Amino acid sequence: MPATKKKPAAKSAKPAAKPAAKKAIAKLSTSKTKRVYFFGLPKSDGNVEMKDLLGGKGANLADMVNMGLPVPPGFTITTQTCKDYNDAKQKLPAGLIDEIKVNLAKVEKSTGKKFGDPSNPLLLACRSGAKVSMPGMMDTVLNIGLNDVVVEGLAKLSNNARFAYDSYRRLIQMFGDTVMGVPHDEFEHALAEQRKKAGVASDPELQTADLKFVIEQYKEIYAKHTGHPFPQEPLKQLELSVEAVFKSWMGDRAIKYREINDIKGLLGTAVNVQAMVFGNMGDDSATGVAFTRDPSTGENVFYGEFLINAQGEDVVAGIRTPIDCNKMGVEFSQKSWKELLQIKNTLEKRYKDVQDFEFTIERGKLYMLQTRAGKRNTVAAVRIAMEMLKEKLIDEKTAVLRVDPASLDQLLHPQFDPNSKKVSIAKGLPASPGASVGKLAFTADEAHERTQNGEKVLLIRKETSPEDVQGMHSAVGILTSTGGMTSHAAVVARGWGKCCVVGAGALQINTEKRTLTIGGKTYGPDDVLSINGSTGEIYEGAVETVAAQMTGPFAQLMKLADKHRTLKIRTNADTPADATRARDFGAEGIGLCRTEHMFFDAERIHHMREMILATEVDARKAALAKLLPYQREDFVGIFRAMKGLPVTIRLLDPPLHEFLPHDDESQKDLAKSLGLTHQQVKDRVSQLHEANPMLGHRGDRLAVTYPEILEMQVRAIIEAAVQVKKEGIKVLPEIMIPLAGTKKELDYLKTYTVDTANAVFAETKTKVDYLYGTMIEVPRAAVTADELAQTAQFFSFGTNDLTQMTFGYSRDDVNSFLPDYLKKEILDKDPFQTLDAGGVGKLVGMAVKLGRGVKKDLKCGICGEHGGDPKSVEFCHGVGLDYVSCSPFRVPIARLAAAHAAIKAGAKK
Ligand code: PEP
Ligand code: MG
Repeated sequence: MPATKKKPAAKSAKPAAKPAAKKAIAKLSTSKTKRVYFFGLPKSDGNVEMKDLLGGKGANLADMVNMGLPVPPGFTITTQTCKDYNDAKQKLPAGLIDEIKVNLAKVEKSTGKKFGDPSNPLLLACRSGAKVSMPGMMDTVLNIGLNDVVVEGLAKLSNNARFAYDSYRRLIQMFGDTVMGVPHDEFEHALAEQRKKAGVASDPELQTADLKFVIEQYKEIYAKHTGHPFPQEPLKQLELSVEAVFKSWMGDRAIKYREINDIKGLLGTAVNVQAMVFGNMGDDSATGVAFTRDPSTGENVFYGEFLINAQGEDVVAGIRTPIDCNKMGVEFSQKSWKELLQIKNTLEKRYKDVQDFEFTIERGKLYMLQTRAGKRNTVAAVRIAMEMLKEKLIDEKTAVLRVDPASLDQLLHPQFDPNSKKVSIAKGLPASPGASVGKLAFTADEAHERTQNGEKVLLIRKETSPEDVQGMHSAVGILTSTGGMTSHAAVVARGWGKCCVVGAGALQINTEKRTLTIGGKTYGPDDVLSINGSTGEIYEGAVETVAAQMTGPFAQLMKLADKHRTLKIRTNADTPADATRARDFGAEGIGLCRTEHMFFDAERIHHMREMILATEVDARKAALAKLLPYQREDFVGIFRAMKGLPVTIRLLDPPLHEFLPHDDESQKDLAKSLGLTHQQVKDRVSQLHEANPMLGHRGDRLAVTYPEILEMQVRAIIEAAVQVKKEGIKVLPEIMIPLAGTKKELDYLKTYTVDTANAVFAETKTKVDYLYGTMIEVPRAAVTADELAQTAQFFSFGTNDLTQMTFGYSRDDVNSFLPDYLKKEILDKDPFQTLDAGGVGKLVGMAVKLGRGVKKDLKCGICGEHGGDPKSVEFCHGVGLDYVSCSPFRVPIARLAAAHAAIKAGAKK
């Protein structure tokens, strides 16, 4: 609550007299910073370009005046003033009140009314208005300037006592609530009591006497909470309202809103003080809000609502049912309707975008109170952009930039019906978009089994491991209590386009008892939850979903994006089905095929385990030979699906222990099927155990120890390529070595690769072109990229591992401390989501430069999760990568993001 002022306000109201204004002008001439900008006839001080200083609302009000639209006069106090106020520990800068007085005099002159003058009162509205609209900030205070005396004058002048007293009671309520923090409910309660007493159902039925009584009640409530009476001095009311707007900039709500919406670098909010016009002056008055096009479908139809004889907040509060603006001509006034339509056209022509505007009609005269770019959902945004392009209102580049790439997600996955009821019980990280509803399965096996029995289940795990993939794939959604945005669950789910929420710390999972406890409430296997992978929200029960729609304008926008981008877009896909889906989404190749995902099928995992448990090379080779046909078939399918587009295949990467069972029962089964003792299996499992497996025996280190694994994989790739080539389909395999850190590793493994490929060429009497390249995932690889480029024919930045190793943050454990880093603004962003340009990005830039210094045309791409993040895509464009690679569902996002990057960088195609 704002600090209470000790000195009670004077009871009698004094008009702001001319001499005061004169004195203020004299003082002003000595101050340097202009803090207050007048808008009104004959001309506004500000203009539409001044959004930084005047906020969006202020700049547009000034502009509308200059366009000749009917705007009640007023003034805007700058965002800089807000900053100065908050910097000075919430003290208004010297001279501000004088500058306000000068501008107040201009408003008085323009309206012919006087602030605080009972015989002809000017009333004011005070509203916040930052550069970007922020619903988390202070609401409006209307009717400033009313007091016990002025209200009587207004009653006489308007010949409408009810109107005057209703306006006064609204002022006390709004001022009390918004400026002084008096609980809103208490005012509402008093009003409800009076309705009961008067025997009426709605506020408009309350008579003058009722309202006078309500005002007395309100004053008591006000005094009880603030410790002093409601201020009677109009200037004091104004000053406190202005201060409240400035304070609201640093309020929890506004800070949270900026945080969530990633709004940074603003000075503060402006304050708009504007002469009141009244939509509640009788049946020839009205107030409303409208969009120049439908913001939910994008259709080019006028979309608005208004209320006759009402004030602004009545429309928002939803107490009365508003009337569709399209009925205004019939139900209100033909003249006003025509004016409104004309304004709609003028606004769109001027701002070349959908406008969301507020208007008030006072005794038949229409006034504009604000206009701003209308918020819209993605379906609407895409349609509006493409239609405005067709109407030649905007050009191609503007149309592309009108749609936020990340928002395309809304078009690609089923969504929860925004109109359905939801009870949120927890929140995690939005790891993979979509909306899933299911019963709870607590192990991967359970998820798989129950799915096969026709149930829809969510897989609930503390975290997932490669062992869980089958169950993960079966489940309709995945929910984990630990892990970050690049944890196993997140990466795998995103690859499949499966809905996934990770790192929901509030979840207590008891796998043995098959229970999930959230906030003291426990859920079992038959309970249903709904998870939103786009927001991280977890809901109780089944929330309704609506299917995604691929509309015509969406396809048009994608085509346009392709025309303007220079970066190629590839996909991370491990199966022919994913590859096909990604192609349909516009992928121009596979940037990462993670071969380890191919080993988890029931039959394959058996051979894989046999290979891992083998103690002799020959036995290992025998097991690998059994895996070869499976691998080859996978690659054949992928090559066919990609029809001649490049396919980067990464050789085995994870530590081997991830493929082995860890519970006694499964180990016993495995031992039996392989003719080993339980102890032998146990020994091998513990032998493979590593304290820090992510930095252990994984990546190309496996191939260095066991070259036969590489040989099997290379053989499978080349044999598949030969087969598909023989089918008449072009193939472009790119063999990729993971985790290399030295040139010597690459040289060593290249020999095996080339020998194996040549052997297949000789056997099949067919040759295919292929590339041999490496991932850059280890900082040393980036630093010595000039050496690696002597051997590698391409680089692919594995920025998941590169981020992990550059920061030293474990990918799988980062969520235990990252939220603190973000909250305390030690980090701006989760570096596993958005590429850390200053650190990891520096390594990427350096490696590209060093690599191309050796091989001028070295192909460079990115295949870490950042490849689908719009901000990271922009970075990749800037650093000169050839392509980004991301999961299939993010391909359209990356296409649009790449176009944004190219347009912003002024790149020419
Ligand atoms: C990476 O590290 O960025 C990468 C793509 O590999 P993975 O996520 O499979 O470790
Ligand atoms: Mg990696």
